[in-house]
Amino acid sequence: MTPLAERVRIVLVGPSHPGNIGAAARAMKTMGLRRLVLVAPAAFPHPEAVAMASGAEDLLERAEVHDDLAEALAPCRRVYGLSARLRALAWPQRSPERCVEEILAEDLPVALVFGRERSGLTNEELARCHALVHIPADPAYSSLNLAQAVQVMAYLLHRAEIAQTVAPVHRGAEHPPASAAQLEGFFDHLESVLYRIGFLSPERPGRILLRLRRLFLRAEPDEKEVHILRGILAGVEACCRDRRPGAGA
Ligand code: SAH
Repeated sequence: MTPLAERVRIVLVGPSHPGNIGAAARAMKTMGLRRLVLVAPAAFPHPEAVAMASGAEDLLERAEVHDDLAEALAPCRRVYGLSARLRALAWPQRSPERCVEEILAEDLPVALVFGRERSGLTNEELARCHALVHIPADPAYSSLNLAQAVQVMAYLLHRAEIAQTVAPVHRGAEHPPASAAQLEGFFDHLESVLYRIGFLSPERPGRILLRLRRLFLRAEPDEKEVHILRGILAGVEACCRDRRPGAGA
């Protein structure tokens, strides 16, 4: 099993306070995590991040910085979105403990995605996640400081890793779960075919795409299954081409 330090990415989306980035790095390092990924941080590198890291500057130096979330998640095969509140469109949910159990059960690259201090994650960002994780808190005041939310998850991961009570899943000859990049490729392809066949109209896209995302993410398709689905979409495209007026018999 690859150590969690190598396969768990802590992804901070749009952090506005550099101090929180440093505090998150410290929270990670105390629990043996190493891979900090920043998406469009407001200010980084920054002396406040270094001050708050207090000894975890090496994580800041090694941090990956990306312009967009898709790029940051591309290699990950399980993506969990940390959310301080429940959303309008119900998405699969995991308790923090269940999330950690799943992470320990399979040797896969994983991302825990944390949102902006003020506004959290957008619905579009949450829709890239297999499941949402809410840290139980007082419902009247449930929003933890960003770095403290990182600390809670890092602690649970560390505690579970040293106890190692979870029996690992053996996939045998099965294909690995699709990566975020493969899933996004499929969703883009699906969207373009749904427009092409007139199932979606640009004026009224509605929430169908979001629901389809939820359906496919819930199914946790493997690489081969995504390949088959894309083959079907390519078949539909070929049919559309053949049926174009003037395209022959
Ligand atoms: N006001 C924002 C909260 C932002 S807190 C909102 O309502 O969404 C910054 C980030 O810390 C959140 O996006 C989330 O990733 C994490 N976080 C804070 N409290 C949390 C909680 N109780 N459970 C899970 N994640 C939490």
